[in-house]
Amino acid sequence: MKIDPIVKPLSDTCTLCGGMIDSALDLQNLPFTGIYGTYHPDSKNWAMNQSLMLCRSCGHGQLKSQLDLSFLYGNTYSYRTSKSATGRSGVEFLLNYMEQLFPGKKFSRIVDFGCNDGHLLKKLKQKGEKLLGIDLIWKDREKDFQDDRITVLGQPIEQINLWQEMGGSPDLVVSQHTIEHIADPRSLLSYMHAAAGEDTVFLFEFPCFNLLLENFRIDQLSHEHLQYFSLHSFMKLLSDQGFNLIDYTFNYHHWGAILVAFKKSKKKAGRIYVREHHRAKVSPDDVTACYRVFQRQMDCTGNVLKKCDSGKLWGYGASLMLPVLGYHLKTDFSQFVAILDDDPLKHGSGYVNLPVKIKEPKDMDFSEATICLTAMDNRRPILKHLVSRMPIRIITPLNTL
Ligand SMILES: [Zn+2]
Repeated sequence: MKIDPIVKPLSDTCTLCGGMIDSALDLQNLPFTGIYGTYHPDSKNWAMNQSLMLCRSCGHGQLKSQLDLSFLYGNTYSYRTSKSATGRSGVEFLLNYMEQLFPGKKFSRIVDFGCNDGHLLKKLKQKGEKLLGIDLIWKDREKDFQDDRITVLGQPIEQINLWQEMGGSPDLVVSQHTIEHIADPRSLLSYMHAAAGEDTVFLFEFPCFNLLLENFRIDQLSHEHLQYFSLHSFMKLLSDQGFNLIDYTFNYHHWGAILVAFKKSKKKAGRIYVREHHRAKVSPDDVTACYRVFQRQMDCTGNVLKKCDSGKLWGYGASLMLPVLGYHLKTDFSQFVAILDDDPLKHGSGYVNLPVKIKEPKDMDFSEATICLTAMDNRRPILKHLVSRMPIRIITPLNTL
């Protein structure tokens, strides 16, 4: 199976502030992720060199190289919010936070930028009259989404006239785990500024660079996430583009995410309190120190895996990120009997670029099994029910959960 994705540089300067950027971490031959299917031996080395670049001025993190979007979000991109337990609980967290910020408030026109399968939009119906979802996954099949008050569009946002589509400017724009995929966040915010009214509220959720570093989660660096926003760098972007921060919070259980509420600046906007350590700019030393701790733990886990009896070693959690975890653990998982997963849609499948199958754990006898937690962002829920099934031992690749 031949695959030849188009690779190009992301930017020579910071995509948020235009500042000078330097490489903070080089990852040679980092594999592609997110491809379930039948294993093709010649895809074992689907990978490309990648670097995490850091802005000298605002400390924003961004990738050096980007992959062609059609390769990433064509048929191979299989994440769907409603099918993911973490995705669904992330939606509930966002809705609760919204209710805390704007108790009982109803909106006339709601936009969900990066709406995925429309799970959040359906939940937002009780809060809004007219709803619009935008996501490239709906390209050429927008009519498949049937709903009396929700419309979806599959074109790039800059080609959409929100005023025309909705009969006025939106009063709420939500976006969950989308802007980290965007090559030019500055243009996006500038577009949003033009499309928004004076009272439009924005609520954006995305992985937080600060939490990635605090949790030693270098495995969260992947070709799909072009941007690594810290609160510091995102606030700089907001103020440069004429927005004011309203509030922020963290969802530690959804990919180490930050939720940021903001709106257009008004002359006399109040300043919100930002805790001191959240204000700090990320430095190259922060990245190096994090990588060092992460790498030691990966080396250690890799050595433990090598000592395991391969006929009794299983993974638990068939995450889209498995090739990246394998990269850091220096395994292709061929030593594993299989990767167990609770999602019936994955059973019998595998990975195009890893020689390991995905199996159902339901009737399995765990009494002889050693289980390695392999879905790094679902380790807690997996562990919770795994313990009661009494495997011989459980291996967690990182020592923080
Ligand atoms: Zn910058």
